Amino acid sequence: MKLKKVEVVYYSFYCPGCKHEHQYSINSDNSGWQFNGNLEKPSFTPSLLNTMPVKNAETGKWEEKERCHLFVTDGKINYCGDCSHEYKGQTIELPEIS
Ligand SMILES: [Zn+2]
Repeated sequence: MKLKKVEVVYYSFYCPGCKHEHQYSINSDNSGWQFNGNLEKPSFTPSLLNTMPVKNAETGKWEEKERCHLFVTDGKINYCGDCSHEYKGQTIELPEIS
């Protein structure tokens, strides 16, 4: 066999820091992020880093505007200190999502 089939499931949660959803992708072969399988008290490892680039109108260069770096552990979001939003360094309960 020369190919291995890998299926991917995405889990979304709402991030109050960015005011939109982030996703973890979980691979069926257990490569990549690890998920504890608990939908009420989820834990994922390792951390999730989201950056949103924007084009600087003056220089024409792409720059990092928003940075969101977090761990989801035991149903809580642990924001790292390098986030660009107000929740940096804080731990909060995961919001409900519909
Ligand atoms: Zn975020």
